[in-house]
Amino acid sequence: MKIPSFPVIVRGASVVAVVLCAGRLGVAPPTDVLARSRQASPPAATDAALIERARAVLERVPLIDGHNDLPWALREKVKYDLTKLDVGESQPGLMTDIPRLRDGGLGGQFWSVYVPASLEGEAAVTATMEQIDAVYLLAEKYADTFEIAGTVDDVERVFKAGKIASLAGVEGGHSIDSSLGTLRMMYRLGARYMTLTHSSNTPWADSATDDPQHGGLTRFGEEVVREMNRLGMLVDLSHVSPDTMADALRVSEAPVIFSHSSARGLTDHPRNVPDDILRELPKNDGVVMITFVPGFVSPKGGAYYKAQQTERDRLERLHPSDDDAQEAGLRAWRKAHPEPTATLADVANHIDHVHKIAGIDHIGIGSDFDGIDSTPEGLEDVSTYPALFAELLSRGYSESDLEKIAGRNALRVMRQVESVATELQSTRAASVATIEQLDGKQ
Ligand SMILES: [Zn+2]
Repeated sequence: MKIPSFPVIVRGASVVAVVLCAGRLGVAPPTDVLARSRQASPPAATDAALIERARAVLERVPLIDGHNDLPWALREKVKYDLTKLDVGESQPGLMTDIPRLRDGGLGGQFWSVYVPASLEGEAAVTATMEQIDAVYLLAEKYADTFEIAGTVDDVERVFKAGKIASLAGVEGGHSIDSSLGTLRMMYRLGARYMTLTHSSNTPWADSATDDPQHGGLTRFGEEVVREMNRLGMLVDLSHVSPDTMADALRVSEAPVIFSHSSARGLTDHPRNVPDDILRELPKNDGVVMITFVPGFVSPKGGAYYKAQQTERDRLERLHPSDDDAQEAGLRAWRKAHPEPTATLADVANHIDHVHKIAGIDHIGIGSDFDGIDSTPEGLEDVSTYPALFAELLSRGYSESDLEKIAGRNALRVMRQVESVATELQSTRAASVATIEQLDGKQ
């Protein structure tokens, strides 16, 4: 297996900053990037009446965001010590804090419990446990705002009580160390989705941003999907290769999600969902939770990704086996070639595209706030969701459409996943298959 370029390296107490969701290593942004991006122009949709209508929708239906990396930000910044970083108050160094979550009308959050793909084996499992623990630490410290939710009924009850339903999403199959027992324990701890890969292949599934190794899912990978179906864990296909997407759609007995991806038909970035997969999605009844990552929604994102890959390949040839030199070279390249910027309108264009190809019942929201080092203009932080929904109203979407995009679609998928699990648990015992048995690996 090709080792992905520039693995994230944990050096003592400091962790190299990453663009968590772009795949592979990003270069740490200047510390003032976030502050500057928030001072940018006001939201694109400034029509007060539309904003009010959008807010009213989010009061009726929980806005479920598929992906937010606050737990990783807390790990990086304060090692989870919430006395040192109080998200109950304004935190300009983050995209997420409680005042802005309230302002943005969020109803439910899949907190990403991401750990870098460079962590393997037991180290990945331990770090994932700590990330899940962070979701509980938040819910305990801010019990007036957050409550852990395990089911759709929980989400609806917590939302009605005026709080934000908190669920954990495992970002990458490396987090289970090829162990179905570990998968089950993570479910018991509250993990309600697992992204099958992050930026690198796992031993059983190909990633969108690594060299193809398995041609999609291995036999064990298929067993992972089946066991997730039996547990009632959402199968998340963000980050995986198109072959893995197709295999998962074939194997999964329940609807799938893309927790934070946009449309490849508009931005040809491997992290986005190709049109042929979008066309298949209604049969599976899954949902694409449109992400705000500028490189995935900017019209220039695809060309930028390709140019960066070309430079990365060149640096690998130039400095084979010298990660530091490759990293320095890429940093210099990125300084000379700034990432493309994006706008709220770009994000709305991706929603339009998925609407056109897959239909209104298959769209959700997966911002990736605090997992990215820049944001689209108009979507700078968690307070800005109403501006996006106002933009959709201005484009002719009905309030009923908005309700679906905000949360009804995601909740429908979750409910179906729950009911498939109930059915499967009555006919199938927990799988104790191993990767050695199914894939013949040592
Ligand atoms: Zn991601």
